[in-house]
Amino acid sequence: MNGTKSYISKTVEELKPSGIRRFFDLAAGMEGVISLGVGEPDFITPWSVREAAILSLEQGYTSYTANAGLMELREEIAGYMQKSFGVSYSPQSEITVTVGASQALDIALRAILDPGDEVIVVEPSFVSYVPLVALAGGVPVQVQTLKENGFKILPEQLEKVITVKTKAIMLCSPNNPTGTMLERSELKAIAQIAEKYDLLVLSDEIYAELAYEGDYTSFAAISGMKKRTILISGFSKGFAMTGWRLGFVCAPEAISQAMLKIHQYAMMCAPTMAQFAALEALRAGRSDVEDMKKSYRRRRNYFVQSLNDLGLTCHVPGGAFYAFPSIESTGLSSEEFAERLLMAEKVAVVPGNIFGKSGEGHVRCSYATSMELLQEAIKRIGHFLDQHQKA
Ligand code: PLP
Repeated sequence: MNGTKSYISKTVEELKPSGIRRFFDLAAGMEGVISLGVGEPDFITPWSVREAAILSLEQGYTSYTANAGLMELREEIAGYMQKSFGVSYSPQSEITVTVGASQALDIALRAILDPGDEVIVVEPSFVSYVPLVALAGGVPVQVQTLKENGFKILPEQLEKVITVKTKAIMLCSPNNPTGTMLERSELKAIAQIAEKYDLLVLSDEIYAELAYEGDYTSFAAISGMKKRTILISGFSKGFAMTGWRLGFVCAPEAISQAMLKIHQYAMMCAPTMAQFAALEALRAGRSDVEDMKKSYRRRRNYFVQSLNDLGLTCHVPGGAFYAFPSIESTGLSSEEFAERLLMAEKVAVVPGNIFGKSGEGHVRCSYATSMELLQEAIKRIGHFLDQHQKA
């Protein structure tokens, strides 16, 4: 190495490091911080699920599984998708067990994209979508949703950015960071666009278990859409299993087999003990999921109402565990707000602009933390706002 040549790929060089990390690092060095920053459940994985993994180790299940995952687990996922969402997938050819929903997103994009293909990313969006599209050789085309529309994408907005190079639309409902959940009629309108322009839809349904209002609809359950949908899901959020790194992806056979090719070379299979844990989560973990969901809903109701009472206007999120209040009344940018709130009151939130331009003027607060801490956070935010209202 002579110091002049860069060995790093241009694509990687151009990726921005995740903005969330910077705030976590800042907060990690401080004492007494209430973190509303992290996007993960505050619950420990239910005991029966942990016990199933321990048992699998005791019984010596320490080798690889089939590339696509344990057949028993894929059968259980197929049953779950049918029963909970009314979509039927073949465990033999349409389901792949992955290392979190993150790896599912990665192999889905790599399986479908040729260099220069465009993927529409609905903003504000989960921080990984844009980098993952770029890493797969694609071109992310960001479409901004508006708070006036409850951060819901309108079909005409999609139609405006579709070109001959558009291959897919990425959706996430319930959404990270806004908590917005799309209704069946809204999904149908997007389905019409997908049909009209012959597009795929990558539907990130990782928060499907945490839908609080009305009936949750999977995009694949919309008539005619199963053949166009790559459905990404997993155990991290609803089942409180972030550290197990277990997800899955369901797609028509040709796409599933393409994803499996990448998965088998790059990953071999998802961790075996985590697969046994997931099997138990689906077989017996339902009541735990319901209890956690009830608890999130209670906290959502308290937290969102309190933010609105403080003047930080916030729509009621239909799902996930995020509130996305407007901080425009302070006259601060979302980064200034988050940084000053952390320094002055030791409350960590995530600046909305990290999730795309349309997130500016907002911050993401995760309410997956105890009621006591939420109450204390609201007190501190109130105190902060006393000093930071626009003149
Ligand atoms: N998709 C969304 C929308 C997320 O918010 C997250 C995690 O924050 C993921 C995917 C990744 O999930 P996993 O932990 O299963 O990789």
